[in-house]
Amino acid sequence: MHKKLFIPGPVDVLPEVLAKMSSPMIGHRSKDASVLQQSISEKLQRVMRTNNTILLSTSSGSGLMEGAVRCFTRDRAAVFSIGAFGDRWYKMCTANGVPADLFRSELGQPTTPEMVREALITGKYDMITITQNETSTGIRNPMKEISEVLKDFPEVILCVDTVSSMGGDDIPVDDLGIDVCITSTQKCLGLPPGLSVASVSDRAIAKAEGIPNRGLYFDYVELYKFVKEKPYQYPSTPSLAHMFALDYQLDRILKEGLAARYERHLALSSRVWEWARKNCELYSNPQYLSVTVTCLKNTFGIEFSKINAAMGKRGFQLSNGYGALKDITFRIAHMADMTVEEMDDMLHNLGEVIAELQSEQ
Ligand SMILES: *Cc1c(COP(=O)(O)O)cnc(C)c1O
Repeated sequence: MHKKLFIPGPVDVLPEVLAKMSSPMIGHRSKDASVLQQSISEKLQRVMRTNNTILLSTSSGSGLMEGAVRCFTRDRAAVFSIGAFGDRWYKMCTANGVPADLFRSELGQPTTPEMVREALITGKYDMITITQNETSTGIRNPMKEISEVLKDFPEVILCVDTVSSMGGDDIPVDDLGIDVCITSTQKCLGLPPGLSVASVSDRAIAKAEGIPNRGLYFDYVELYKFVKEKPYQYPSTPSLAHMFALDYQLDRILKEGLAARYERHLALSSRVWEWARKNCELYSNPQYLSVTVTCLKNTFGIEFSKINAAMGKRGFQLSNGYGALKDITFRIAHMADMTVEEMDDMLHNLGEVIAELQSEQ
């Protein structure tokens, strides 16, 4: 039996989107491939609300994150972490010999604009990374306030991880002045894992051109050149199967409408918050809750693995906590094409399962 996925990626993919992945192959150097990539790029610009150039990568989002720290750091990177995925960005810096400092918030709390200003005012940093939506704690950073601070430091390149939110949350990339905005297909975009996306500003590319040792496969300058000069080509052989499905899914997303899609994610998350307030506790600062994934404290006196196993028998899969929060929290994702009815059904079952397990103890 297929378990309906309430985990923060991969998400369930609609059958008609999956079917597009078995489209007949085309040559990746053909005109058809360029037309396909251009179509995807133009639609993604609308979804991401940017005029910046769209780059595709046949990798998960981590590939473009690793590429970003190499390509856009000349002096030193300031990595702001609010959990596991911010920490990962710092690990990528150290693993690639990119000078970086880590600025951590307490788990369950956001990066504050004050923290960003305090770091940048030292003049040590020429690039910063922010996790817009932290999947381990279900926190959404105050991007508007953070982007205001960046206006006072125009030489700093702003790289933002929107892997678990783009396509669900409201993220106006150009209004926020995001130079490099990274996401991947298996979360709010509602596709299988294997393709990732970045929007990149011309000024970020101009800077990267002067930075040595950018690597090759995840070199933003190389990816950018193939889009601009070929045009709309990819340096190596891309996952065309993903591209067929993405092109189709972007039509669906735009047809639903970005505002409606955001409202649906807000309605889904509100259901989970309400359930959490009645039945257990929210882990994170309630002022900054993510609209795509919620982290809940396990206050039920039952190991989460038991709850998830019982939910599995009913056809649902939830997620345990991540990293340091593995045993004390669990997570419910509300991403992509999930409906409010599906969420209500799952939460109803979750309540029954917990009551059953508690009565057995
Ligand atoms: C899932 C996730 C990642 C990692 O993305 P992959 O596509 O699995 O490489 C990075 N950041 C956040 C916030 C995520 O949720």
